[in-house]
Amino acid sequence: MATILLEVATPDKGEVYAKDINMLITRSICGELGILPKHANLLTELIPHAMRIKEGSGEVKLFISGGFMEVTPEKITILADAAEVPDDIDVDRARAAYKRAEERLAKKDSDIDIDRAEAALARAKARLLVKGVPMP
Ligand code: ATP
Repeated sequence: MATILLEVATPDKGEVYAKDINMLITRSICGELGILPKHANLLTELIPHAMRIKEGSGEVKLFISGGFMEVTPEKITILADAAEVPDDIDVDRARAAYKRAEERLAKKDSDIDIDRAEAALARAKARLLVKGVPMP
């Protein structure tokens, strides 16, 4: 089966993931993208989500908080604000972030930065999805 190299790095942690994969399903500001080996050149911005990586007959998930993705026919390079493999996700912290964001959004207070709270909620949801645990 044809493969394409996927490299994911963050400013804080450096390389988070580097492997030859069969397919990446990711979410950009323009919608969902499926990237296969020999994909056309592409540069796009990613939004917070649970990325799906197909390797052989299996699939793994990786949290991406947003960032930039460059695709060439041989390689996918993602520079993310934050990225975590399932083992690195702290579920209690993600649940606490989820509740905090929901409480802020429920207040409908003019002091609340709605965009910021919605972004925090999206990150928390994606982390819980990668971990495979129910939403609080
Ligand atoms: P929090 O409010 O809990 O800080 P956040 O979504 O605002 O969550 P980020 O700004 O996305 O956090 O990430 C800041 C740093 O903390 C990054 O290095 C990220 O990998 C790490 N991080 C955040 N939440 C978690 C988590 N639940 N498990 C593991 N690492 C996390």
